[in-house]
Amino acid sequence: MTATHRQLSPETARLLTLDTEPWLSCEDCFAGMDHFVEAILSQPGTAAFPEMRAHVAGCPACAEEVESLLALVAEQDGIDASPALAALRSRPANS
Ligand SMILES: [Zn+2]
Repeated sequence: MTATHRQLSPETARLLTLDTEPWLSCEDCFAGMDHFVEAILSQPGTAAFPEMRAHVAGCPACAEEVESLLALVAEQDGIDASPALAALRSRPANS
């Protein structure tokens, strides 16, 4: 029961939820999945898309979807999906 309301401008609130909250709906996850997959394939150690990582770590359905897309794109591009898959399955150790 915390009744304290901070004064946040709508823009600040929008940026806060957009950038720092590691929460994503499955819908948003699906929408950004191809970009996420491309990023993690080209740079498995990337810290980009923290909200995607957070979501996938807690959502088996999306994790499965990301892994199949990852395998597909890797095959199309003729690259090894293993580093990206490993990076995906391991929780980011550095933040
Ligand atoms: Zn999901």
